[in-house]
Amino acid sequence: MSPCMERTLIAVKPDGVQRRLVGQIMQRFEQRGFKLVGLKMLQVSDDLLSQHYCELRTKPFYPRLLHYMTSGPVVAMVWEGHKVVQTSRTMVGHTNPAEAQAGTVRGDFSFHVSRNVVHASDSLEGAQREIQLWFQRKELLNWDCCDQTITYAF
Ligand code: UDP
Repeated sequence: MSPCMERTLIAVKPDGVQRRLVGQIMQRFEQRGFKLVGLKMLQVSDDLLSQHYCELRTKPFYPRLLHYMTSGPVVAMVWEGHKVVQTSRTMVGHTNPAEAQAGTVRGDFSFHVSRNVVHASDSLEGAQREIQLWFQRKELLNWDCCDQTITYAF
């Protein structure tokens, strides 16, 4: 991976999978020009979630969050590109869908914070930690996208 590239974890949460939104969400990242380097569908374990959301353990909504996130399959992806962490957060929108702008995933597909459809890593360090947690190294592919000399002029 080139030094100007980043990777981020995007996960379609159980409500997004149940509502058949996976394709539409993936399409937004593809059409923005980012490269998919990891993809899997999984039933998330309590152990993985407690590590993933370790900073939220003391929050009153934490038990409901665990219940929600284990209520059905999740589709986890790793996307690669220039400033993909920050750009993905913008594309996903505010944590509370009621405050998310139209045009963002949460702003277009959800209305309540407890069912906000998608996860996106919130920092470069967070993304690196989460990708290691969710994916084994062998599950991530390094591949050349045929349009990368057109989409990246550096
Ligand atoms: N969450 C919730 N109630 C709240 C705040 C957060 O149910 O009042 C859930 C919501 O699913 C959110 C997740 O907890 O996406 C993680 O919260 P965080 O503050 O890390 O927001 P995110 O990074 O997902 O935007």
